[in-house]
Amino acid sequence: MSDKNNKLMRTDYQAIFKEAYHLMDEAIIAGNCGECCGYHCCRRNDADGKRLGMYLLPLEYEYMQSEVVADYELHSHLQYDMPPKIKKYYYIYCHLAEGCLRDHRPIQCRTYPFEPHIENGEFSIVIEKEQIHGCVLIERMPEWRQAFIDGVYNGWLELMKIPVIKYNIEYFSKERIATNNIMKQYFKWR
Ligand code: SF4
Ligand code: SF4
Repeated sequence: MSDKNNKLMRTDYQAIFKEAYHLMDEAIIAGNCGECCGYHCCRRNDADGKRLGMYLLPLEYEYMQSEVVADYELHSHLQYDMPPKIKKYYYIYCHLAEGCLRDHRPIQCRTYPFEPHIENGEFSIVIEKEQIHGCVLIERMPEWRQAFIDGVYNGWLELMKIPVIKYNIEYFSKERIATNNIMKQYFKWR
């Protein structure tokens, strides 16, 4: 690829991530949901004391997080099961000693408890049965702000313009279908 194309791709991908971060910047319910659960999905350790972090999307470190994330591990395909076309994931720990760097929080924090899903070519956002955090708001969906649902949905549509992210979504969607791991599913146009 020529330098010119490299430069173009860099600008485009960064613009896509920026737009997705912007779209996915809506609170799930009115007020601060962390007050309902003691900020359960932001906890630093699990019940056994094991340090908890979160995975960035492919290219999210390179295009959005490299200047803010200081504490991370690189998980390589040599040690971890991952989709065949992906060679590494960044696994990050919340990067401010005092708490959340809210404007820079990654996609995983913005989309939770939704995950992106593609089945028979159709896109939806879903809530999995099996999940680490067990958000207390899952039983209170009628209270979710439509702006949050729309923002997550539209943010993923934006991110899917990046081929490796679409591939990542398709890979985990197949796994989810095979393990029957969908609790709730949201289609925008139905
Ligand atoms: S677990 Fe749910 S309610 Fe609690 S902070 Fe996370 S998203 Fe908010
Ligand atoms: S970046 Fe912020 S929202 Fe995300 S897990 Fe850390 S403290 Fe919670």
